[in-house]
Amino acid sequence: MCGVIGVAGLKNAAGLAYLSLYALQHRGQESAGMVAIDSAGTARGHRGMGLVPEVFTQRVLSELPGDIAIGHTRYSTAGSSALLNAQPSLVHYHAGPLALSHNGNLTNAEELRDDLVRRGSIFQSSADSEVLVHLIARSDRQSPEEQILDALERVEGAYTLILAVGRTMYGIVDPRGFRPLVLAELNGGWMLASETCALDIVGARVVREFGPGEWIKIEDGMVVDLPPLPKKEPQRCVFELIYFSRPDSIVFGTSVDLARRELGRQLAREHPVPNADCVFSVPDSANAMALGFAEESGVKLEHGLIRNHYVGRTFINPGQASRTEKVRIKFNPVREVIQDQSIVVIDDSLVRGTTSKALVRMIREAGAREVHMRLASPPITGPCYYGIDTPTHEELIAASLSVEEIRRELAVDTLGYLSLGGMLTAAGKEEGRFCHACFSGKYPTEIPQASAGKPNHRNDVLMVEADLIHSNQ
Ligand code: AMP
Repeated sequence: MCGVIGVAGLKNAAGLAYLSLYALQHRGQESAGMVAIDSAGTARGHRGMGLVPEVFTQRVLSELPGDIAIGHTRYSTAGSSALLNAQPSLVHYHAGPLALSHNGNLTNAEELRDDLVRRGSIFQSSADSEVLVHLIARSDRQSPEEQILDALERVEGAYTLILAVGRTMYGIVDPRGFRPLVLAELNGGWMLASETCALDIVGARVVREFGPGEWIKIEDGMVVDLPPLPKKEPQRCVFELIYFSRPDSIVFGTSVDLARRELGRQLAREHPVPNADCVFSVPDSANAMALGFAEESGVKLEHGLIRNHYVGRTFINPGQASRTEKVRIKFNPVREVIQDQSIVVIDDSLVRGTTSKALVRMIREAGAREVHMRLASPPITGPCYYGIDTPTHEELIAASLSVEEIRRELAVDTLGYLSLGGMLTAAGKEEGRFCHACFSGKYPTEIPQASAGKPNHRNDVLMVEADLIHSNQ
């Protein structure tokens, strides 16, 4: 998953983009990057592995002058975790420097890439996003806009894009609208961001959220709506509301916090625990869900697990070994709350089961009498091909085990998953507008064989030093 940001027509664009990227850190912790464009059209970029404040020192920011900037925070879902795959991409293009930030996964990237390579394209990275850059550059059409459209007509899957071509910025959301994007206004200039929390941090006023297939350009201080991309059935990613987005954001027209509380309430209705002493969340993503569960059921809300906030999200750091170890580093139980109690633990989702298994063990060791696990989403039975880092079938616990088998595996007294219908109703009024393929197996696009496995790590060229790119028109 990734976070994208765009700033247009604002002094110190890089400084604003930096703050916004800071607020989008939860969407990607592997690398961060930014390209700033000055009044002469010179683009300067910086990308690095690590967290936003690690990548952007004061010195680096001072070397990124301009009133236009686009930025990116990344964790890999296509292409490996390597500096060469960090974004924004920045290339020389016939109409000036072209910079691109992408959130989502292109499902036909492998096919397109093979074809491009056969025809002589030389790729810098293994990320699917670079395919778009090549398609734009090689398009037979004339203007940048026509070339971008030509490229978009050839890609499938999930893409929320912020592009800068010379001093023109584009904001684009694929026709199914898998990933969010918001337009905002600040002091006469414009901003684009994955989530509203990235706009709040700089005091920008939200103008509107992009609908599926919407694209705009920002040029000479004006926002111009471009003809929407060919219509497809909306497929907003329900996992954005369940897990991924920050609760203080408005995503797909819904307050993430309120949606999560409602998921918790629905969970309490579907799977009550009548004699429980207390309920608590696996912090932080399930906090609002536990609140909803407590409100609906009347069971006392507690803090039973304390999270060390200086450890990153367990999944975001790729590699199974570090993930298992990190669970212990990340959470600690509050014995005084847990001892001799019948407790309900709420989590937003169960993926591999590794976090939950370790947590249940900890909770039992802290003296719990009964442990009832409740999940505010249905069993995850298939991978996501649209930008969420869910693992392969083999690693997904619910892909091969029944609920009862999972209960035994986790060693809980009872286990309850929210139903698909319950989740969709709680997540939003208009049922059917969500992509829920990872729960239901109903994939809205074709999944080409090449990308049906895991992210492609072939052709990787590794670069370990932070790079600084300067590109003149
Ligand atoms: P596990 O118990 O190992 O299945 O891990 C479940 C935990 O991972 C839950 O607490 C979720 O909040 C979190 N989680 C779910 N999906 C993801 C994801 N795609 N990336 C990072 N963390 C996730």
